[in-house]
Amino acid sequence: MINTAFLMYHELETPGRTLCEDGAGYLRYVISDSDFCRHLASIKNAGFKGVSVSAALSTNGAGKKVAITFDDGTETDLTVAAPLLREFGFNATFYVVAGFVGATGYLSKKQLVELAGIGCEIGCHSMSHRYLSNLSDHDLQIEIAGAKARLEGIIGAPVDHFSCPGGRWNRRIALTARESGYKSVATSRTGVNDSTSDSYALSRIAVKRGTSLADFDRWCRGEGLMPRKATDSVFAAAKGILGTAAYERVRSRILDKPAN
Ligand SMILES: [Zn+2]
Repeated sequence: MINTAFLMYHELETPGRTLCEDGAGYLRYVISDSDFCRHLASIKNAGFKGVSVSAALSTNGAGKKVAITFDDGTETDLTVAAPLLREFGFNATFYVVAGFVGATGYLSKKQLVELAGIGCEIGCHSMSHRYLSNLSDHDLQIEIAGAKARLEGIIGAPVDHFSCPGGRWNRRIALTARESGYKSVATSRTGVNDSTSDSYALSRIAVKRGTSLADFDRWCRGEGLMPRKATDSVFAAAKGILGTAAYERVRSRILDKPAN
């Protein structure tokens, strides 16, 4: 794998549909269907192909790739993202929270089966979306192995890739995922991946509300990521100093401030 950007999307906003959540921390990861469409056009114009995580990690197939991923498993994965991806001849990996399947605004079992059936890759984003870094071994098994089994039971196919809720990652999470049979783990640490990257600690680039198309284009080429990496380090340092619980309180206080 040559330098490959792994994009991280969440719920897509579409006219007339209520979003799953409305907090400021959630909304900053929500972009519109039209912006998503512009992103796909931009990927295509730059000569890249939008692919699933499996295809990005595979050594088969030449050409420049961008991995497209979605976290959480909201129903817009099927109703908005999948039709647009198909229009461009692209694929993606949808990391689904097993315990959210069937909840209002999220994929139902039937929709999840349909998404897998049209060739989209289904990954796992835990059982309950709890942050995994502080869980007991027992709870970690449920969130990682239990969620995998539940999703595989619904779609009737292997679920090979995992992404960490809230980007919380550590060695124990990676090891548990590997032992549970996953082939990769995606984090939210900013960066691109290449053949030297640890498949169980893949970097991604969060696509946020208000991202300019110019920035987006640069990110797909693996450029212009330094400011993001710097912000990551500040947050990582804050986590280390404050501990997870205090960090979450401070972070939500910052993010829930009304935008100016
Ligand atoms: Zn998530």
